[in-house]
Amino acid sequence: LTDRLQKALTGLKRKGKVTEADLRDSLREIRLALLDADVNYTVVKEFIRNVRDKANGAKVLEGLNPAQQIVSIVNDEMVAMMGEEAVSLNKAPKIPTVIMMVGLQGAGKTTTAGKLAKKLKDEQDARPLMIAADVYRPAAIEQLKTLGAQIDVPVFDQGVDVDPREIVRAGMALAREQKNDYVFIDAAGRLQIDEALMQELADIKAIAQPDEIMLVVDAMTGQNATETAQGFNERLGLTGITLTKLDGDTRGGAALSIRAVTGTPIKFVGQGEKLTDLDVFYPDRMASRILGMGDILTLIEKTQKEYDEKQAQATMEKMKENSFDFNDFLTQMEQVQNMGPMEDLIKMIPGMANNPALKNVKIDPKDMAHLKAIVYSMTPAERENPDLLTPSRRRRLAAGAGRPIVEVNRMIKQFNEMKKMMSSVLNGNMAGMEQMMGA
Ligand code: GDP
Ligand code: MG
Repeated sequence: LTDRLQKALTGLKRKGKVTEADLRDSLREIRLALLDADVNYTVVKEFIRNVRDKANGAKVLEGLNPAQQIVSIVNDEMVAMMGEEAVSLNKAPKIPTVIMMVGLQGAGKTTTAGKLAKKLKDEQDARPLMIAADVYRPAAIEQLKTLGAQIDVPVFDQGVDVDPREIVRAGMALAREQKNDYVFIDAAGRLQIDEALMQELADIKAIAQPDEIMLVVDAMTGQNATETAQGFNERLGLTGITLTKLDGDTRGGAALSIRAVTGTPIKFVGQGEKLTDLDVFYPDRMASRILGMGDILTLIEKTQKEYDEKQAQATMEKMKENSFDFNDFLTQMEQVQNMGPMEDLIKMIPGMANNPALKNVKIDPKDMAHLKAIVYSMTPAERENPDLLTPSRRRRLAAGAGRPIVEVNRMIKQFNEMKKMMSSVLNGNMAGMEQMMGA
């Protein structure tokens, strides 16, 4: 973000918790910085609210200070808002997959069509066809043909005197006949959204029934990018977005707003004029770019990882000593989100990852809440010493958790078996473990 924010954040003192005051100051700076990065006002408001909810009273991880903890929360929230994971191109169940490129003039539609066609060719040996449907500028058709020649992809065109709807109809027929697996429709754009353009695009959509309506939008246009995306989405129903010109000096705040306002995933980013300058969009990389705090984020990631590893190590030690109790079990369950499910933890044990006996180990997250409720109904002494759980105490747990007694019994049985198994495995007795799993 800005130098000012960096200063505000690094100025916070090292304390165990994120305080109200820490938050107020940091959030004010973050808010200004996001607006500065051209993130839409409403989106900023929602963003700040979410961060405040998550950061208030949050525990500061060992090795971090409150400022870094806030950056970590801000980063996570950004990643969440941008959709967490990379999203790939839609694919038709039956060829051809039709990709319609839409967007304002100069956004990079034609270039991106060429980049994508090349990528599909290189990665999947695809046989795309590109349709030249921008008839308003003679140069547009020439540009697509030149591109096609460079990447050895055929271009279908009928010059500038045919209605683009007819061109698309004829191009689609040709693609079906030639069994092309991808079709790119290079549609026209305008300097601004207007009704004639939208009508033409809606007609083309009806004719070609695209699997992907890809909005190409220039990241440098800041706030306008969001309005553009909203306009195209309302009228056409976008399925994907490519954000271009990220090789420029923009922070990329548009990514945050566009995704939030349209709900449409950003799938690719253009990073230059060359045909290889197209990358899959990764929300975490974009968040780091918008924040501009790569070093701090690297530190946070490292600290988080070390913390998780330390916790896992401690759990492992307790299991080995056979002193794993219901408190550990609870901690374990609460960490599932960070650490991955129990079955993954088991697989972290050397030699266990590929053990076929573990294939069937599955803990349904739905059951987690029930298990937790049962543990919460235990007294501290019972949690520390599961042997105390006599039948009458188990009935009390069942009533307390609102679960049937058989479930309580099953859970305790499984807990004891797991404990025995883990201790056995960790003390090197693999055979015993396999026996148990087989049973
Ligand atoms: P269209 O009107 O939407 O089809 O846009 P074009 O594909 O013709 O692109 C307009 C201009 O933007 C061209 O000069 C492209 O080379 C350039 N361009 C497209 N994508 C990028 C990008 O990711 N980075 C940079 N620097 N230039 C780009
Ligand atoms: Mg074009």
